Amino acid sequence: MARICVYLGSREGNSPAFRQATNKLGRTLAERGHTLVYGGARLGLMGELANSVLEAGGEAIGVMPDHLVEREQAHFGLSELIRVRNMHERKATMAANADAFIALPGGIGTLEELFEIWTWGYLGLHEKPMGLLNIDEFYSPLLTFLDSTVGHGFLAAPTREMLLDAPSPGELLDALEAQL
Ligand code: AMP
Repeated sequence: MARICVYLGSREGNSPAFRQATNKLGRTLAERGHTLVYGGARLGLMGELANSVLEAGGEAIGVMPDHLVEREQAHFGLSELIRVRNMHERKATMAANADAFIALPGGIGTLEELFEIWTWGYLGLHEKPMGLLNIDEFYSPLLTFLDSTVGHGFLAAPTREMLLDAPSPGELLDALEAQL
């Protein structure tokens, strides 16, 4: 049983596959006894994931800065909503409260969070496993690009290997759990 931090879109995306896989991840987290840690919003895939964890009897903890709570974007049905002062404090709080990290499809917020936590791992600030849920090949172009950065000499192969990926929630959780 672990605390899994998930970064994911505040939008739903254009394909129902994103929502379906997000729901599956939420149910699988709850079934395996893991606690969800995420950004605390009720919007898009973020809200879907929290609701699917809670409906399956799991625990969901949100971490949200005051300015977003005030814009009524918070999910008020969570097991716990941790309020923080700003986005920097939020990312540090999410990281401190997690044993592993997952990125689902999302936009620049998701990518920024993913790359920051990966960089912190690369710099030796944590040794927690990290992985992408590659729903419908969403992340395949990014994975190809990352492999090419190794080829170009800007990324060390062991650092590249720190970022796991899998096409389904069960396979991704298996890979992360093996490193816990
Ligand atoms: P994006 O991928 O651009 O939709 O951003 C989603 C990611 O950034 C999430 O993992 C959140 O932690 C954060 N984020 C962006 N927008 C919001 C929002 N309105 N409410 C809460 N978190 C957000």
